[in-house]
Amino acid sequence: MEELLKELSKRAEEEILKAKSLQEIESLRVKYLGKKGELTQILRGMGSLSPEERPVIGQLANDVREKIENMILERREKIAKEEKERKIKEEYIDITMPGKPYKYGHKHPITLVMDEIKRIFLGLGFSIAEGPEVELAYYNFEALNTPEDHPARDLQDTFYITSDILLRTQTSPVQVRTMEKTKPPIRVISPGRVYRSDDIDATHSPVFHQMEGLVVDEGITMGDLKGVLNVFAKKFFGESTRTKFRPHFFPFTEPSAEMDVSCFACGGKGCRVCGYTGWIEILGAGMVHPNVLRMSGIDPEKYTGFAFGLGIDRIAMLKYGIEDLRLLFENDMRFIEQF
Ligand SMILES: [Zn+2]
Repeated sequence: MEELLKELSKRAEEEILKAKSLQEIESLRVKYLGKKGELTQILRGMGSLSPEERPVIGQLANDVREKIENMILERREKIAKEEKERKIKEEYIDITMPGKPYKYGHKHPITLVMDEIKRIFLGLGFSIAEGPEVELAYYNFEALNTPEDHPARDLQDTFYITSDILLRTQTSPVQVRTMEKTKPPIRVISPGRVYRSDDIDATHSPVFHQMEGLVVDEGITMGDLKGVLNVFAKKFFGESTRTKFRPHFFPFTEPSAEMDVSCFACGGKGCRVCGYTGWIEILGAGMVHPNVLRMSGIDPEKYTGFAFGLGIDRIAMLKYGIEDLRLLFENDMRFIEQF
């Protein structure tokens, strides 16, 4: 038995010194000292020893156990230390290296203009209303006082999905949807994408952006409309901006007008931006037609309202001096990164 223990001790020593990883050490510990390990196996034979031999072998077995335990401990520490050093070496970071430049996203000019316009109207007490881009013909036309035979309903101009479903050609249907579910006073703007069957060129695109505004309450007049749009023009184009209203026709407003602003590029003297007229047309507006109010369930005897709609793309082009509408949709980074 003494021989067996000495042999075990020697073999364990050799194997522990050869171990290269913490897992190897652990499996050696189990192999020699575990409950079913080799040392335990040998000690099972203690019963057959004489009473004189037992304490001697017992002492030797304890010494062997202690020796193996210490060796494992030492080896484990050494391996852990080596691994740590190796990691430090591998994961060394050179803090003097120049950093990688991060590219920050830019807001698209359309988004910039939309955000600015929203900010101004929210400041005037408006809230934002949204509606679907795939719209019922009813909301896009009928409810906006544009009957079946009206030229604006020309099949050539509108993307029809079925005979009564289409891609909205204007943000005005949101007016009707808002009036149907809200009681006056109403003060909303609704910015969004609209679609028309236009060929793509420098000033036309089959998809573009509009913003609609609607105010309905008792005693709303054309004076309120002019007041609100004046404030908007001054805030957006600058304090010295003047406005001018020209009579116009829209089926869903009566009376209707187009609003021009004094040219922000030349101050009204006349330049290339304003076509040498000193004025730039920016939006259409008017008093909500009594038929439109009635169809949306609002009593035109009690309430009046005004509405306006402006082209976001056109305003972005004016503001940033962009001469080709297509640039706004092509996502050319050289262009977009300038904003
Ligand atoms: Zn000008």
